[in-house]
Amino acid sequence: MADDTVSRREFIKKSTVAASTVVAGSAASVGHTHEADQHEHEQSDFTLRAKALVSVLTKKNLIDPATMDAVIDFYENKVGPHIGARVVARSWVDPEYRERLLADARAVAREDNLTGVQGTDLVAVENSAKVHNLVVCTLCSCYPWPLLGLPPSWYKDAAYRAQSVIDPRGVLRKFGLELDDDVEVRVWDSTAEVRYLVIPERPVGTDGMSVDQLAELVTRDSMVGAEKLQ
Ligand code: FE
Repeated sequence: MADDTVSRREFIKKSTVAASTVVAGSAASVGHTHEADQHEHEQSDFTLRAKALVSVLTKKNLIDPATMDAVIDFYENKVGPHIGARVVARSWVDPEYRERLLADARAVAREDNLTGVQGTDLVAVENSAKVHNLVVCTLCSCYPWPLLGLPPSWYKDAAYRAQSVIDPRGVLRKFGLELDDDVEVRVWDSTAEVRYLVIPERPVGTDGMSVDQLAELVTRDSMVGAEKLQ
């Protein structure tokens, strides 16, 4: 692993201030303690605001906390990247399925009953030796829940959201992925309507493996484009 390779959590910690700085056009330096503290403070403000909203909406009988818990439990514990991994693995062994997936992932998702909250309009994009796709939601954290479960915290962080569109190669480098100069990087900005699934390249030396065996090799991050499978 290269010296500048850091974990996603470390990356977020170190880069949050830098990303906010780029967006705001200020010249503050990365890792400035005061600003980092301020960010921590802002994060806890968001948590408090969310709790206050839940409390008010519950009192007004506009939401049912039990239903909310059930939805969160479903997407945290029952739905997850193992579902997307099977889609990817099948696309590796079944050319006709892959073609349909890339042409109209919405239709495939409907056929395979892979729809639900945050997954209606699905678009699949394929990585190759010459193209690398990276998915982000610059506005918030839109993500294909029915295929990948709930998004990881780094996907929701301001650093990832801002830097992915400004310097995707730099973001990938910090995740430990150095792309050759001749590889085109495509960044897909998710919206409330459209969610993206990256079909990573099939690792070499996997000929003859079953869909189940191949699915075991597919990671969550590779389906966001933040990782390349080895
Ligand atoms: Fe979003």
